Amino acid sequence: MKEVYSLADLRDWPNEAPPLRLAVFGDPIAHSASPPMHNAALAECGIDARYARLHIRAEELAEAFRLLPRRDFIGVNCTIPHKFAALALMDRLDDHARRIGVVNTVVVEGDKIAGYNTDGPGLVRAVRAELGADLRDLRVMILGAGGGAGRAIAMQCAFEKCPRIVLINRTLEKLGPLVRELEAFFPADCIAMDEFNALEAHLSQIDLIINCTSLGMKPGEASPIPAELLSARHLIYDTIYTAARTPLLLAGDAVGARGANGLTMLLHQGALAFEIWFQRAAPIDVMRQALLDATR
Ligand code: NAP
Repeated sequence: MKEVYSLADLRDWPNEAPPLRLAVFGDPIAHSASPPMHNAALAECGIDARYARLHIRAEELAEAFRLLPRRDFIGVNCTIPHKFAALALMDRLDDHARRIGVVNTVVVEGDKIAGYNTDGPGLVRAVRAELGADLRDLRVMILGAGGGAGRAIAMQCAFEKCPRIVLINRTLEKLGPLVRELEAFFPADCIAMDEFNALEAHLSQIDLIINCTSLGMKPGEASPIPAELLSARHLIYDTIYTAARTPLLLAGDAVGARGANGLTMLLHQGALAFEIWFQRAAPIDVMRQALLDATR
């Protein structure tokens, strides 16, 4: 069994036991902690299937999706950079995924595939579990709101009717369409968008900062917000889970701000995906322990 499979493997899918019937598609993908989490859940529930990492490049995504029914897949997750592109490649979209405009969970339905999104609901559960707060009560700043996770979380904040949403992205043009969609059902005077170099002006009106950029995944990267701009009353949720304390969380630690990394969001979005695939409750404690063991 390989740590990472490729499109070539999917074309000629290995006959392994337990059978490979679930996967995560991404580029890069070697860091993904989804396989240990889902494989622990499958074993706990006595399901004869295994979950693998698949390194799929952008230009390979359409073919990879089309192969899933032929390879008897149950479903897949999509991560960087496929969450937007996946939307147009689905035969059917769940209403929530269509409204959010991002797919992170795919279900094989006969010879068709259907797209769902569990990132937003996963984040709601994670913020409650880690920070003891309800997203709907918080003024939220989203760093990297133009990416797949950022967009899903921005839409979730609007569904939750958060009192304020501030969207920050390196490439500001990417935020225009998102802001217009949010304004269709969320008060325009409660939304702001800006670049990183202008975020200081917004921080006094923010309770929760959510990092949805990939800044902090690579060793040596700087915090997207320097410590001197943070204060002890800020809550921080960093969706990155490859480090226990990311550069943003360390900046928060320096001023006494409470924060958590993305492990609980990974756990809850994974549990919700498991429930969509198998129509049964996910063994959340087993999944949490597997994640902790895999990322320790
Ligand atoms: P994505 O769609 O590729 O988006 C990447 C985002 O990061 C974009 O907003 C991009 O800005 C920004 N970015 C990248 N490099 C940057 C830099 N050097 N400076 C400033 N901004 C930068 O990826 P994604 O799927 O949303 O994932 C983003 C992050 O969320 C990853 O770290 C991933 O691990 C994490 N995530 C975690 C979970 C979880 O369950 N914990 C779930 C989903 C995602 P531009 O628009 O300007 O390119």
